[in-house]
Amino acid sequence: MDRVALVSGGTRGIGAAISVALKAAGYRVAANFAGNEEKAKAFHDETGIPVFKWDVSDYHACVEGIAEIETALGPVEILVNNAGITRDGMFHKLTPEQWNEVIGTNLTGLFNMTHPVWSGMRDRSFGRVINISSINGQKGQMGQVNYSAAKAGDLGFTKALAQEGAAKNITVNAICPGYIATEMVRAVPEKVLNERIIPQIPVGRLGEPEEIARCVVFLASDEAGFITGSTLTANGGQFMAG
Ligand code: NDP
Repeated sequence: MDRVALVSGGTRGIGAAISVALKAAGYRVAANFAGNEEKAKAFHDETGIPVFKWDVSDYHACVEGIAEIETALGPVEILVNNAGITRDGMFHKLTPEQWNEVIGTNLTGLFNMTHPVWSGMRDRSFGRVINISSINGQKGQMGQVNYSAAKAGDLGFTKALAQEGAAKNITVNAICPGYIATEMVRAVPEKVLNERIIPQIPVGRLGEPEEIARCVVFLASDEAGFITGSTLTANGGQFMAG
């Protein structure tokens, strides 16, 4: 497999599992990260996957970072928009900074990362764009108006862009994970996790990052070419969107 896959936020949590699974499936993988050098170095040392630091909320940084990857590895044919952050708070306390940071990374980041690879995908008549949204973008979550809005926006982005890419053999899909055991979820107080969140998950446990990674490998494959504009939910039965 010669294809190059780029995973934003690909050095930790779900993104790290995605990078590793794509490498195991034969892709040449590049993993982006924001600033946690220590985790990125440990990830690189363990996996051999090259890591590239830039902020997906900065369009010009994305253009430059992707150009560097394409020079080193070749054109990006699989793009996984996974980088995401939370800045939680009840709406009456939410600051403009918390709003803008989450929208900038979790929604504008999709534009910033996808736009620089889109023309190349069109020219080559092949591409896979896989956006990691969230259950909370589907159902809304109190204390996460910013995050829910961004993640719901990711689904609109997916459906509209899928229509534009279809004639050029570019698929654009979203995955909506439920609660997955990563640092993002470990930031939730244990009492809230055990008493409020896990009881809402019919399978009775958090998901594992590898369970999301397997969904990505499938959507990236040639065999998934008829699937576009879709939302794949992987949430242990917590929310069954129509
Ligand atoms: P983590 O916090 O464990 O990892 C986030 C990754 O994204 C890190 O590699 C981080 O880089 C990177 N990142 C964050 N901001 C930026 C940025 N501005 N530019 C570039 N990279 C950035 O998150 P998860 O693995 O838990 O989540 C991954 C995705 O899955 C997110 O989009 C999240 O919203 C979504 N999701 C997660 C769920 C969960 O339960 N965990 C549930 C539903 C959706 P660095 O290491 O340098 O900080």
